[in-house]
Amino acid sequence: MSNLRPLLERNRAFAATGAHTWLEILPRQQVFLVTCLDPRVDPAGFLGVEPGDAPVIRNAGGRVTEAVINDIAFIGCLAKTIIPDGPLFEVAVVHHTGCGTGFPAYAAFQSAFAARTGMDEAVLAAAEVVDPTVTVRADVQRLVSTLRALPQISVSGHVYDLETGLVTTIVGPSQPWRAHSLSAVGGDAGANWLGAG
Ligand SMILES: [Zn+2]
Repeated sequence: MSNLRPLLERNRAFAATGAHTWLEILPRQQVFLVTCLDPRVDPAGFLGVEPGDAPVIRNAGGRVTEAVINDIAFIGCLAKTIIPDGPLFEVAVVHHTGCGTGFPAYAAFQSAFAARTGMDEAVLAAAEVVDPTVTVRADVQRLVSTLRALPQISVSGHVYDLETGLVTTIVGPSQPWRAHSLSAVGGDAGANWLGAG
């Protein structure tokens, strides 16, 4: 018997409501979410995201990896063909307190897992979220610097506190074109602007 069975029963109930029949492919909220795969960190719960609201990418830590950048760029290019002149969407990166990737045991586990699977240990280490306010700033900066070709996408960074249930905005929303132009002025203007929450 599949472990999915209880969820398939919920699917039957969902299908019976007909709620899926009126959904559009264009998201209602103009937000693209990147967050952790931790089951406690489900945007349907802590952000009230409903079907049709927003694309969501979840991975270990909610980190902005190469794969995440590629997916955002793909969806961004697609949206630009549909809405050439308008703002496309805001990418909201949400890291959280108490992330499993930040536990001390995770560091030891990385070595064993890398040895067993042949994965690069550095890739596993890059997923760590020890201080979510630090990693979310780093990930927003990475996205902003790589999305300059899609200036209609803005990027923001947030931390979800598992204790209080509240989300705090740490960065943004920042726009790649503005960060680029401020960086070109010189000094740390771009970085400071990025840090202004
Ligand atoms: Zn996590």
